[in-house]
Amino acid sequence: MTNEQQPWDVVIVGAGISGIYALKQLRDAGFSAIALEAGPHHGGTWYWNSYPGARVDIESIEFSFKFDPELEQEWTWSNRYAGQPELLRYLDYVVERYDLAPHIRLGVRVAASIFDETTTTWGLRSEDGDTFTARHVVLATGALSAPKRPVIDGLDTFAGDVLQSVRWPAGGYDLAGKQVGVVGTGSTGVQIITAIAPELGENLHVLQRTAPYVVPAHNAALTEEFVTSVKGSYDIWREAEQAHCGGFVAVDYEIGSSPTVMTLEATEAERVAEFEKRWHSGGLCFYSSFGDLLLNTDANRELANYLRDKVREQVAGHPMEEKFIPRDYMPLTRRLIVEDGYYDAYTVHGANLVDVGNGNTFEVVPDGVRVNGELIELDTLILATGFEGVIGAPISMDIRGAGGVELKDAWEDAPSTLLGYTVHGFPNMYLVNGAGCPGALTQAFTLSEFQVEWVRDLLTFARERGYTRIDTSPAAQTAWTTHLDEVLNMTLFPTAASWYMGSNVEGRKPMPMLYLGGFPAYKRHSLEQRDQGFPDLAFDGATERLREQPAFTL
Ligand code: NAP
Repeated sequence: MTNEQQPWDVVIVGAGISGIYALKQLRDAGFSAIALEAGPHHGGTWYWNSYPGARVDIESIEFSFKFDPELEQEWTWSNRYAGQPELLRYLDYVVERYDLAPHIRLGVRVAASIFDETTTTWGLRSEDGDTFTARHVVLATGALSAPKRPVIDGLDTFAGDVLQSVRWPAGGYDLAGKQVGVVGTGSTGVQIITAIAPELGENLHVLQRTAPYVVPAHNAALTEEFVTSVKGSYDIWREAEQAHCGGFVAVDYEIGSSPTVMTLEATEAERVAEFEKRWHSGGLCFYSSFGDLLLNTDANRELANYLRDKVREQVAGHPMEEKFIPRDYMPLTRRLIVEDGYYDAYTVHGANLVDVGNGNTFEVVPDGVRVNGELIELDTLILATGFEGVIGAPISMDIRGAGGVELKDAWEDAPSTLLGYTVHGFPNMYLVNGAGCPGALTQAFTLSEFQVEWVRDLLTFARERGYTRIDTSPAAQTAWTTHLDEVLNMTLFPTAASWYMGSNVEGRKPMPMLYLGGFPAYKRHSLEQRDQGFPDLAFDGATERLREQPAFTL
């Protein structure tokens, strides 16, 4: 059992992309810092999600750190979209290159973090009883790290193996000769199904509740010519990312821009041409095709019809044809799913699509699953049922701020933050890629680098002035939370049950959790805050310099 009480200047919880970068930046800035990582390896998402087919849906030349041009030149991605093993190798390389491993404590799952008013420090305790003391805590716990345990009748009675995508057995799992059921057709389920269908064929049973929108990735090995061209112009790529609403820009191997044209202003021919360009490009670039797709139902319907036709072309004549057509949510209100050859799982390899939604009864029994009373015998059940997104990890810990207030109580109705960095009543605690920021809709490296640097600048500002306690103005937190809600309600996101809204978790009502005004607007708010000397943060309890009527606008 470890007992590291010195106290540390900063303890970072989590050693995924943002935790690794926070460790690098804060140590470089002269803070004593360590990262506590629950897993036996650093890497976060890219360690845990080792299921078959796991691959990023943003192009790797962009889904990478930009802070060190030398690193950009040294590392070469093999594929347009890196698979999980390659991404983990990249993070290994970063950790080794910057000598971060000695400062990462592996296998330390933080159970509690309690603020001590008398010493202005946080006391952290792991599930195994390790203790740490810190002046500041950075929660880099990931937006998609707390697996959701789905509510399915009889799940605990299953006699075979239950595999959860995010806890795939480290040594792999032999599917040969087994009858396998997959629950979930989100990004994860679609990747798993596509990867295992060639081996399993008719022995694969996909238990689908909602048909997804799947677009091609057009993944391929990167040519030397393309890699050389990007390495010769990385500064231009990175600058474009900073100005782009989602923090990533590639369209058909070139730098695209944020949308300026509206769907409904374009002619039918222009619309189709634009959608076709995106389809042939592959990837998530549909998000930046037109400016109103997430604002206007009529505009969104144009994309929905286009994508439904594309699905139909791929499954025409299949006995379950209608069940593949996505109808239950508007495209983009849940993350678009990027995968090559998904429908081949059914049309070529013969996987069995089973509708467990639409009022059909679905239960797990010891021998398999029963759908409308009919037994499908299974040896293995794979749960690709998603996450308790954004707030899942922080509220699963016992985090208590000033006066012993628990974070999960403070966030009972919805998470509330200032700019996605701080929470009133939880002094000296910072979030990265958590609630209140444009996480999920901004690519993780772009956002993590920006947020970590903001936190570093805040801590440096405080250190230079001798401040030891940083808390958030409640008025400013309310203003940011109100703004978040206003922006959310301008969009179509509330129409879908999704992890963006917390409403994928059974029994939880939708709540605003993310900032949907785009990365450039978020950056502007953050930089204004920093450049004006953090007017919405109280240092050492002094409230005189706080803005009286903070407001945020798009
Ligand atoms: P998800 O998008 O939340 O999908 C979960 C799936 O499980 C849905 O199909 C859902 O059905 C189904 N499900 C949940 N509970 C169920 C129940 N009780 N009975 C039947 N079905 C149930 O989760 P995910 O696929 O893990 O993806 C989450 C996010 O991770 C993505 O949005 C993306 O941001 C990220 N991700 C990215 C990549 C990539 O980069 N390529 C890969 C994987 C994940 P309903 O739709 O009916 O709710």
